[in-house]
Amino acid sequence: MKTNAFAYRRADTVEDAVRIAREEGDEARFLAGGQSLLAAMNFRLDEPTALIDISRIEDLRGVSRGDGEIVIGALTRHADVEASPVIAEHLPLVAAAIREVAHPAIRNRGTFGGSLALADPAAELPACAVALDARIHIAGPGGARAVAADDFFRGLYETALEPGELVTHVTVPLPAPEARHGFAELARRHGDYAMTGLAMMRAPERTRVVYFALSERPVRARAAEAAIERGASPADCAAVADEGLDVLGDNSASEATKRHYARVLLRRALEAIASPETTS
Ligand SMILES: Cc1cc2nc3c(=O)[nH]c(=O)nc-3n(C[C@H](O)[C@H](O)[C@H](O)COP(=O)(O)OP(=O)(O)OC[C@H]3O[C@@H](n4cnc5c(N)ncnc54)[C@H](O)[C@@H]3O)c2cc1C
Repeated sequence: MKTNAFAYRRADTVEDAVRIAREEGDEARFLAGGQSLLAAMNFRLDEPTALIDISRIEDLRGVSRGDGEIVIGALTRHADVEASPVIAEHLPLVAAAIREVAHPAIRNRGTFGGSLALADPAAELPACAVALDARIHIAGPGGARAVAADDFFRGLYETALEPGELVTHVTVPLPAPEARHGFAELARRHGDYAMTGLAMMRAPERTRVVYFALSERPVRARAAEAAIERGASPADCAAVADEGLDVLGDNSASEATKRHYARVLLRRALEAIASPETTS
């Protein structure tokens, strides 16, 4: 199939992008890496009236260390996240997750902000953002604002973005030196979207157990978090992994299978974290 006809506008700055979005109206879309948007347009799942190309806004690209936080520009490509020494040193959870995002060709174009804005429930990076207590920074007609990752993902492909708003960057608090991370997913083939996945962080002051490809959005498993904080065994934590969660079966696995996967993944991650050979 072919896309519908659309206008193409290129934005050179964030202000430009916001202004053009206001001019083009609610049916315009920002074009970042185009890896999901163009496919959706080719299938006529999305028929925007205009594409606003933000891919050349240089200010929105790159990873850096700020004061007590890591800053990831929305247009940073997955391949650049993968190659970043800052990510490797400070955010081992993201370093582990990014290798599972699609295939190298897609990682060469797809962007960090695009993945968050798309909010695919089976995507790795939204779950990492929630597990790391990231904040999503947004620019729009009403000015700039920031939203906690856990509040940003609202439902199936649904976020807190209002019409005309774009993600500019993401800030992630530097994890404590003692923090331990766990990342695991089950997929039919390497690079496929996960059937169920887990991103977790265990730090002295907080525990986050976040599943993706389990529900409509990345979800925190609060019963498991409480069990971990009580010092329960990996098996006992795993037994409550899916407690209270709204699990949705899909064409990759039934609801019952996904619940089983959730328990298996948590037990494995906790055992790996407890192992003396685990370094992150
Ligand atoms: C075959 C295939 C396999 C894939 N497998 C995986 C996988 O296993 N795991 C995974 O996580 N992802 C996967 N992806 C998706 C990939 O990671 C893309 O990076 C991601 O879909 C979106 O990034 P993008 O930059 O390409 O966004 P685009 O396709 O350009 O945009 C996607 C949507 O987000 C909006 N958008 C983009 N950037 C912004 C912004 N800064 N602010 C506001 N809105 C914005 C666009 O308007 C559009 O609606 C896969 C994609 C393909 C085609």
